[in-house]
Amino acid sequence: MRPLAEHFDVVVIGGGPGGYAAALYGAGAGLKVAVVEKDKVGGTCLHRGCIPAKEFLETAHVYRTVAGAKEFGVNSDQPVVDFSVSQARKQRVVDTQWKGLQSTMKRRKITTINGYAQLAPNKIVKVSDGSDLTADNIILAAGSTPRTIPGFEVDGKFVMTSDEVLALDELPSSVAVIGGGAIGCEFASMMSDLGVKVTLLEALPKILAGCDADVADVVVKSFKKRGMDVHVGVSGLSHKPGKSTTTVTWDGGSVEVEAIIVSVGRKPATDGLFLGDTGVAVNDRGYIEVDEWMQTSAEGIWAIGDCVPTAQLAHVGYAEAMLAIKGILGEDATPIDYNAVPWCIYTHPEVAFAGYSEQAAKDAGYKVVVKKGPFSHVGRADIIGETTGIVKVIAEDQGDGTGGRILGVHMVGPWVTEQLGQAYLSVNWQATVDEVAQFIQPHPSLSELFGETVLALTGRGLLLQ
Ligand SMILES: Cc1cc2nc3c(=O)[nH]c(=O)nc-3n(C[C@H](O)[C@H](O)[C@H](O)COP(=O)(O)OP(=O)(O)OC[C@H]3O[C@@H](n4cnc5c(N)ncnc54)[C@H](O)[C@@H]3O)c2cc1C
Repeated sequence: MRPLAEHFDVVVIGGGPGGYAAALYGAGAGLKVAVVEKDKVGGTCLHRGCIPAKEFLETAHVYRTVAGAKEFGVNSDQPVVDFSVSQARKQRVVDTQWKGLQSTMKRRKITTINGYAQLAPNKIVKVSDGSDLTADNIILAAGSTPRTIPGFEVDGKFVMTSDEVLALDELPSSVAVIGGGAIGCEFASMMSDLGVKVTLLEALPKILAGCDADVADVVVKSFKKRGMDVHVGVSGLSHKPGKSTTTVTWDGGSVEVEAIIVSVGRKPATDGLFLGDTGVAVNDRGYIEVDEWMQTSAEGIWAIGDCVPTAQLAHVGYAEAMLAIKGILGEDATPIDYNAVPWCIYTHPEVAFAGYSEQAAKDAGYKVVVKKGPFSHVGRADIIGETTGIVKVIAEDQGDGTGGRILGVHMVGPWVTEQLGQAYLSVNWQATVDEVAQFIQPHPSLSELFGETVLALTGRGLLLQ
């Protein structure tokens, strides 16, 4: 049996990507680490987020491929979706990853405790199994849960958040997606590819608000071409349930749908996390306040991932975890440049970017020069039959119309999430156009477009001017 009081170098509350990355990185550096997880290690990302969502988007990809096979001379029947099989496959992928993670944590000799944890004063972690853990350092990685909006609470019938969508065995025939951010757009894209009639409702003037406008426009065009109704600037939302459908109404419009997906962001899971005065400052939206090293206002207590007010991305959680562990070890570290983290959105077409958008660079005071390369110029894109999209490179203007330092790379098109790596490196290495233009891109490949767009910024592109 586990002792009722045990001391660790580090106790991590929450076993999502932030928490397990902290545990693995800490244990790898020789620290004695415990993770307390109330549900399953892997967190939102593995069980209710990145992995299951991308698995269903892959179902949509397979569907598109089969539906378009005839064009390649491969004759097959028109595809029909059995979403219960898709659901079972998704679960297999999740469970395989989950098992793998558990055994890696075990191999690293991380103590994983299943229970609800609360932080008490004097660096004590109280666990729901009755045990107290003490530690030299505690990392809070409690993550986040889906937000809803008044009148659109999950009701077990019409209204779902991402948690419920990812557990579906059957797709509705029509859906209203409220929220045109990354997650809302991914669900809208997946469902529309699989034959669901989708209405996408966004309060802001544009969907994918954080993206470069040219990139977001390509996604909107593609959505509309596939028959999706996209409404922006939507306000006054309500819905009136009927027997088997509900009518969603907004100022100036309405639609009758079988289901509603509310995708309006996530809130930090910090309610009930603290017992008494721990000295950890939490802001008015419930996020734990941290400095650039992920240290909270209480000595020896760190916070990372979705429960701090930074980009809510799994890989940002990893980076924050490593930063916190380096801080605990007293090692030199570099704070994260949140303006230049990689973003990937797995819609069809995919979106990927790092660094400034054109507008953001201008707003930050840069004089910029921009080149946009279309995938229709790229042989490999034609080969795979996916020519929609662009690579847009934003660089500092050297004064003669050629580019200097690369400030941002924004892509939309086939497999751009897999092409972002070199763009991310260029931005974060603060590389110049001349430096990056020297690198050879393999031919034929989709990544030629990034090379060609950068080359064009030297003033001497091969295909692009
Ligand atoms: C549908 C969807 C798709 C997404 N797609 C992507 C993507 O493609 N790429 C990407 O980078 N990000 C994506 N995200 C975001 C990503 O899932 C999160 O940023 C990431 O999971 C955050 O990691 P975390 O460790 O901070 O928190 P979480 O993953 O939320 O993990 C927190 C863990 O802490 C546990 N916990 C909470 N409180 C306690 C407590 N008091 N005691 C014990 N345990 C506790 C929870 O049970 C949970 O397991 C997606 C999210 C969603 C919802």
